[in-house]
Parts: sequence; structure tokens; C-alpha cells
Amino acid sequence: MTTRKTVFVDTSLCTGCKACSVACKAWNDLPAEENKLIKGYQSQVETTSKTWTYVRFVEKYENNKMNFMMLKLQCFHCKDPACMKACSSEAIYQTESGYTLINQDKCIGCGYCAANCPWEIPKVDPDLNKTFKCTGCIDRVENNLKPACVSTCQPGALHFGERKEMIQVAKARLAEVKKEHPKAQLYGDKAMGGTTYLYLLLDDPKVYEMPVDPSTPVSLTLWKDIIHPLGGIAAGAAAIAIAGGVIANAARGNYRAKREAKNTDTDSDQGISS
Ligand code: SF4
Ligand code: SF4
Ligand code: SF4
Repeated sequence: MTTRKTVFVDTSLCTGCKACSVACKAWNDLPAEENKLIKGYQSQVETTSKTWTYVRFVEKYENNKMNFMMLKLQCFHCKDPACMKACSSEAIYQTESGYTLINQDKCIGCGYCAANCPWEIPKVDPDLNKTFKCTGCIDRVENNLKPACVSTCQPGALHFGERKEMIQVAKARLAEVKKEHPKAQLYGDKAMGGTTYLYLLLDDPKVYEMPVDPSTPVSLTLWKDIIHPLGGIAAGAAAIAIAGGVIANAARGNYRAKREAKNTDTDSDQGISS
């Protein structure tokens, strides 16, 4: 039996070199995209159907000093993924090794997965009408190779291995890093059932503009776990509501509201800009 794998992202060692993003494009044969420098070293604000991982730069001001907080982002490969629950075509599935993948033959590009993902990771390619995101380099992992992003990271910010081992490595690093950064914490060890990408953050997730408590939208849980199994008229009525985009819009609204609130808190409470 295959055991669950994990990528440990140690943000304390990330230099923001973006080599992970380049390696991802090279291995997965993804084309370059035109972008511009938005602020600092930030040239991309979200994943796209052609860029499955990017580095977020956050400027943190403390005692009249600015520090960059850097974070590589991609699909977290949740153990209990909202995207899979949301997919109306059953195109999303999971592997024993801990990856959440999209079967492109089944994907119809409806975008419900993207609307319900707490991090808005999957993106629909409007030309192909298919949705794309990080595959965890499953083709490499199944051939005993590390994911391309992990292999290329020179400062040692990315580690790959068995989940149990990675959790031990993460805990040991946390104990070490906490001496200098008392707010340091692990992110992803419990969220969404425990994500395959596990992070060591130097500060509160809000500082990194990440949801503090990522979760599956209540409307989706209601539909999938309660209304849909009822079948018949109740399920039919709910299906019409979904077809009208009610659930997807609610999920989007929730996410935006949370993100806006988070940014407001972050700006006012902690003197952060990004
Ligand atoms: S390759 Fe490693 S150090 Fe460079 S940006 Fe990616 S995670 Fe950070
Ligand atoms: S991060 Fe989003 S897209 Fe990735 S598995 Fe979780 S819910 Fe799905
Ligand atoms: S695991 Fe593979 S597909 Fe995912 S971000 Fe890393 S290089 Fe890209």
C-alpha cells in the first residue's frame, strides 16, 4: 500500500528566488505568461491555468524595519478537499499518496471547484474549457522522484517525504524557529483534514493573506452531505438552485468577504502592507 506523502514548506528558509515556479513550468510543459512587477518582487497575485505555483511576497513592517515574508503557493492537496465535493462531473479524485487530481477527460470547466476552494487555486482555461492546478508532480512521485519544485529549491525551503517523517521535521524546525519568531506556527497540519502541503509560517496566516481557518463552504456541505442524499424533490429543488449559481456565488462571496476583512485587520492591527 502506498503511504501518504507530504511537502513541507519551510518559509523561514525561502529566499523568494522563484526557481520552484520555473521548475514547475519546465517539468509540466507550461507556457510563460506575460506579467508585470506589481510591488516589491511580486509579479503574480494568483495561480493561473498556466502557472500552477507562484511566490507571494508580503512586506512586514516592525520597529521601522521592513522584512519580506515569502510564501510559495499552489494547490494544498487537502485530505478533505472542497473542490472534489463541488465538482459536478466527478472529475476530481484523490490518490493514496495524498494528492487531489483532476481527470481532464471528465472536466467540463464549470469552475465550481475554483469557487469553493478556500484558496481559489484551480483555474479554468477559457480556450480549452478545462480546469488546471498543481498535480503534485504525481508522474514524478510515482516514479520515486521528488516533485520538480522540491528538487529545484536550493535554500532547502521545500522538503518531500512520508507524512509522518515530514511532520517530525516540521515540528523540529518550528521549535527552532520559534526562538527568534515567537508567532511562528504550522499551517495545514489540521486544516481541510490535513493538507499534503504543510507550512511553517513565521507569523499569523493573516499576515500572509491566507485564510486563518480554511473550510468547505457550509452551502456545499449542506448540498453534498445532507440535501443530495435525500434525493427526490428536495434534491431536485437544490439542484436548480445550484444551476443558478447560488452555491458557487455564496462561496465566492464568503471568500471575498473573509479576504477583505482579513486584509483590513492585517493593515490596521499589524501595520502590514503587501
Ligand atoms: S525555490 Fe525555494 S527558496 Fe526559491 S522561491 Fe521557491 S520555495 Fe522559495
Ligand atoms: S487547495 Fe483547493 S484545489 Fe487544492 S485540494 Fe484543496 S480545495 Fe482542492
Ligand atoms: S508539485 Fe509539481 S505541479 Fe505542483 S507546484 Fe510543484 S512542480 Fe508544480
